[in-house]
Amino acid sequence: MLRFLAPDAVYESLFAVDLDDLKARGIRGLIVDLDNTLIEYGNPHATEEARRWVEDALGRGFKICLTSNARSRRVRHFAREFNIPAIANAAKPIGRAFRRAMRLLGTRPDETAVIGDQVFTDVLGGNRMNTFTVLVNPLSAKELGATRMMRRLERKVLRELVRQGLLDERDWQLRQKARQ
Ligand SMILES: [Mg+2]
Repeated sequence: MLRFLAPDAVYESLFAVDLDDLKARGIRGLIVDLDNTLIEYGNPHATEEARRWVEDALGRGFKICLTSNARSRRVRHFAREFNIPAIANAAKPIGRAFRRAMRLLGTRPDETAVIGDQVFTDVLGGNRMNTFTVLVNPLSAKELGATRMMRRLERKVLRELVRQGLLDERDWQLRQKARQ
């Protein structure tokens, strides 16, 4: 069970993800979380950094689908801003939204990476679907109260994953750099 919570890769942010490495793994489709992954939680505007990242990834031939548990108005807004498909009210880690996203991307699980800032939604959901999973540090310390509570549990889980040899000590150190 615990192995479903272990990310395949950890990066300091979405913008630091090694897209060449993903490509080398045969990945063509990216299921990207919105809040605190692509855009800071609560920020209503697309940032220059996010725009550049989306353009760069599309330019390298990746397909992208935003997949967010947030309400549809916010998610639709960013889908338009970045001109990429999006699934709102995704209810991650439940599988349905991930399957829908892969249908939109036209990719199989082994050609898909799920990238997000949360272990219990993004990583768990992606691992259950057998995609490659990438955990990134949240862009901002600002988040929902419920999410903040999950962060404490997340830390415990990640530490246990290191203890069991399911996560690199280095990845754990990187996670500690997240703005708390
Ligand atoms: Mg998030």
